[in-house]
Amino acid sequence: MTEGVHSSSEAALPERMQALVYDRSLDPWESSTGLRRLEVATPRLEPGVVPADRSAVIVRTLFAGFCGSDRGIWFRKAFRNMIGGSLDEDGKDQRVTGHEMLGEIVAVGDKSAAKYGYKPGDIVSTESHIICGSCYQCRAGDTHVCAEDRIIGISMDGCFADYMKLPAGALWPTDIDRIRPEVGAIQEPFGNAVHACTKVDLRGRTVAIFGTGTIGLFAVLIARGLGAGRIIGVEPNPRHAAMARRLGADEVIEPDLAGADPIEADSRVVAAVKKATGGVGADVALEMSGFNSAFNAAIGSTRRGGDVILFGIHDGQQVISSFGRLVMDGIALHSVVGRQVFETWMVTRSLLEDRSNRIQDLIWDVILDQGRETVVDMDSWEKERFEGCITNHPKVVLRFAGADVLG
Ligand SMILES: [Zn+2]
Ligand SMILES: [Zn+2]
Repeated sequence: MTEGVHSSSEAALPERMQALVYDRSLDPWESSTGLRRLEVATPRLEPGVVPADRSAVIVRTLFAGFCGSDRGIWFRKAFRNMIGGSLDEDGKDQRVTGHEMLGEIVAVGDKSAAKYGYKPGDIVSTESHIICGSCYQCRAGDTHVCAEDRIIGISMDGCFADYMKLPAGALWPTDIDRIRPEVGAIQEPFGNAVHACTKVDLRGRTVAIFGTGTIGLFAVLIARGLGAGRIIGVEPNPRHAAMARRLGADEVIEPDLAGADPIEADSRVVAAVKKATGGVGADVALEMSGFNSAFNAAIGSTRRGGDVILFGIHDGQQVISSFGRLVMDGIALHSVVGRQVFETWMVTRSLLEDRSNRIQDLIWDVILDQGRETVVDMDSWEKERFEGCITNHPKVVLRFAGADVLG
């Protein structure tokens, strides 16, 4: 056993492991898509060489969620500069992707054990934004907007791999007797929706959710679980609209995108939300699509004095077409990024562990379709087939060989 490392199975860690990798030497950004399954070196704790490893752990991945941002990397639409810049800094060409996971701790730095009590065998998920702990925001307690944060699977190696190294301070212990492991692996994106739904009090409020993609679908469940009154979805994709209904949305408006203005709100959508709210408008609108027209429809559908929560991202400029109304009607805009660490995780845990709200059962039955085409074995991973899965389903979870220990 290495000095400064507590491990029951460190000796058993293989030299090399399977990982889903973006390799810029093999796949130039402009002329490729997808990821490669490659053998890469297994990460190790080397506290004698890297002092920070005393506060780190090695986790064996059991399940890992494939995120919208991973889709952005897959189709080369997002994160080019973050990946490229961090690879330059690290002096290498391969980035192991993935940031949503559930895993088993297999090796523990001595400080991780002493300070956090972690030991081999513990089951954990992880916050994906690794913070510096010393910048202005971190010291003010706003760690989710750390000035120096790195993101797992983008600016440091991630969890689409048999093993990964993580700082103990980012880990989130998860009780898999209460949360099924496939759902435990997607607490991080679920947490995005929890953060969005806890920005203002939703109890008894009428909530309009613009865009019921993965995070918007989670938001339907969470808004319901947190006691929202009426929940109205706005979703052009009929499959996602149907899912939103099955998850408990009271009404889902399906806008016709043909000929729709890319910037201005669709007046039919605004009228439909108004109608669904007795002519008043929604108390709270969650904008989860990133489309300019939806952003303006969200503002237009919100009542005087209401709140608009912004989560969807849009590159370049976003035009507010009724700025005067925004100010004169006292509508508040709130931006949501990441999760509040660990407040959001605590709410996430209680929403998922409480079986009476049926949230985790609905995630498994509806969003994950009970694993059909949505739980993909890493051992038989194949690029074309996987691209089909991530195209057809709002959420896909990779299952690693390590999950065999769960039976
Ligand atoms: Zn994600
Ligand atoms: Zn910081």
